[in-house]
Amino acid sequence: MRQKLAAGNWKMNGTADALSELNELTQGYPEASVDILICPPATLIDRASEAAAGSAVAIGGQDCHANVTGAHTGDISAEMLRDAGANYVIIGHSERRDDHGETSELIAAKATAAYNAGLIAVVCCGEHLSTREDGKTLEHIGTQIAESLPDTANADTTVIAYEPVWAIGTGLTPTLEQIAEVHDFIRAELVKRFGEKIGNGIRLLYGGSVKPANAAEIFATSNVDGALVGGASLKAADFSAIIDAL
Ligand code: 13P
Repeated sequence: MRQKLAAGNWKMNGTADALSELNELTQGYPEASVDILICPPATLIDRASEAAAGSAVAIGGQDCHANVTGAHTGDISAEMLRDAGANYVIIGHSERRDDHGETSELIAAKATAAYNAGLIAVVCCGEHLSTREDGKTLEHIGTQIAESLPDTANADTTVIAYEPVWAIGTGLTPTLEQIAEVHDFIRAELVKRFGEKIGNGIRLLYGGSVKPANAAEIFATSNVDGALVGGASLKAADFSAIIDAL
């Protein structure tokens, strides 16, 4: 049985005021039957970790550098995230791939850095609309997964998030059949590469316009083990409704 995970990605949103939403969330979940994760901006990670201590909410980063230390102005290492109280890190979000030209090879190196620091890597993949319209979604996802996951990936250290780029922040979502098609495909690819135990153990999240209104049907879809939520994770009430649908 894979443990379900509701993950919130605050992206570049939130100053100290946003901690009140986190406090509301942590008070609502002193314990939980599912895993809960909030990834605030890096500036809030240490305060968020303190706020979440003793609750069921874990804290994660949104990116990390592939190196441990060094002359990389503006970057943050996985060790630094861990030191600030994070237990997870999102790697290879499409906004990093698109805004910062991150390649799948770089993402695999970042995932390895995350493992070395003791963080769980949430490795993202997803197609642009043009790729879907060209009928190349599965081919694209297969390549991204193959290249972005280190050989050392396993079910304890790795979560995969499928986020179609055209569904992010748009209010558009794929049909449930389309979500199932991609998640079943990723599951099969993982089993092929890592074997039954690891391949069936790695959790697969769906991300892209997940809201309280559509969460339950998405969570009931084949091989969906939870969600990576952007906009609807910013308000404790909305995110709680998504957690409760899991
Ligand atoms: P939205 O939920 O705002 O569409 O964002 C999804 C996402 O990119 C989470 O990482």
